Amino acid sequence: MRPFFTLSLIVALSGCAASETTAPAKPGIATVEVRRTAATQAIDEIAASYLRLTLEIGTHEAGYIDAYYGPPELKTAAEAAPRDKPALLSATRALMAQVDVAARRISDPLERRRAAFLRAQLRAAETRLMMMQGTRFAFADEAERLFGVRPRLKPLASYDGELAKIAALVPGEGALADRVETYLDAFTIPKGRLQKTFDAAIARCRGRSMAHIPMPDGESFRLEFVTGKSWSGYNYYQGGYHSLIQVNTDLPIRLSRALDLGCHEGYPGHHLLNMKLEEKLVKERGWREFSVYPLYSPQSLIAEGSANYGIDLAFPGSSKADTERDILMPIAEIAVPADDRYWQLLAAIKRASGARLTIAQQYLDGEIDRAAAVALTQKYLLVSRERAEQSISFTDQYRSYVINYGLGEAMVRAHVERGKPGRDVLWQRMEKLVSEPTLPADLLAR
Ligand SMILES: [Zn+2]
Repeated sequence: MRPFFTLSLIVALSGCAASETTAPAKPGIATVEVRRTAATQAIDEIAASYLRLTLEIGTHEAGYIDAYYGPPELKTAAEAAPRDKPALLSATRALMAQVDVAARRISDPLERRRAAFLRAQLRAAETRLMMMQGTRFAFADEAERLFGVRPRLKPLASYDGELAKIAALVPGEGALADRVETYLDAFTIPKGRLQKTFDAAIARCRGRSMAHIPMPDGESFRLEFVTGKSWSGYNYYQGGYHSLIQVNTDLPIRLSRALDLGCHEGYPGHHLLNMKLEEKLVKERGWREFSVYPLYSPQSLIAEGSANYGIDLAFPGSSKADTERDILMPIAEIAVPADDRYWQLLAAIKRASGARLTIAQQYLDGEIDRAAAVALTQKYLLVSRERAEQSISFTDQYRSYVINYGLGEAMVRAHVERGKPGRDVLWQRMEKLVSEPTLPADLLAR
């Protein structure tokens, strides 16, 4: 772990500014400075309590802390003597009240967003602590409380038109999901070609992102292939601009995963977002609450939404298909198709993928059982029984977290592409989104 030189420096300077305000020479400026510093200090203290609280909650649930790279002694202390869940719930609510009071004294727009971010993260922590103690919320309520936005779900029948288009692309006998699986099997990356294909894909994602968003020197990630997980890929951010990216090889990996994963887990997705938060907020501003990332929080809607949208941002129009056809298929030793049907099929499957949220809602709210959820997943997500089982296992484990992908992507896209600006502006908006304390509500604001 890196020592917090930046933080110490900022705290020291704040202290100086506060003591200098007693000098009579410039009373107007001094008064403003006192107010700003007092409000900032109040939020700094709340942020420190939030950080400690989050680390303690993490001792009660494996996977709650997605990333932490602050001072290791804070984590050691939290693990040595964590408060119990009722005490943490009380502390969370007390901190929420403190943020409300402190936020009223803040005038700086970015500082206000910092306070709003803390408030939303605390609301999520409160909800998760209630869930850990047995409270069950309806799907939409749980999603709104944890991730900061209320999902409006479409009826499954609204996706039937897409299924008809998909059926026309893969004509034949048998269930549509089986026909799609059989067709896509020809685009499976052989195990021996996985490393080379992913390395090439991630390098392209990085290059395209780097052309628009500056990255810290020395940034890097390590790629590992793993098994026995409910997810297909994961980014474990380590701090110091390093990530561990894991790819689950339980099921055959299709070629389309290469650029999807390179962008989503890497650039301009999770790895880049975590680096910008560390660089801009933790190191430059000393906002150390950003050195911890609790998974069940609005931060996840921003992370998953920007990671998914990042695929289209980095590879607009036909450039994804071109890269796959001209570069990745030859590396993966996959025969290049003669027409565009493969890419048309993937686009149609993606358009139907919103059904995943509706299926998760029906399943988690007890409207359908597991077998029905698996069957509907096969029907609407066009996957094998094994992939459908994996998808429902993910829903079992992460519950309403599933909204962060489809809904998060739609919200980030609408925000970044508002007014249909040129590509440079799209990237500038993306950089801002991943470098500031962004909440789902900020995406809705115009
Ligand atoms: Zn993700």
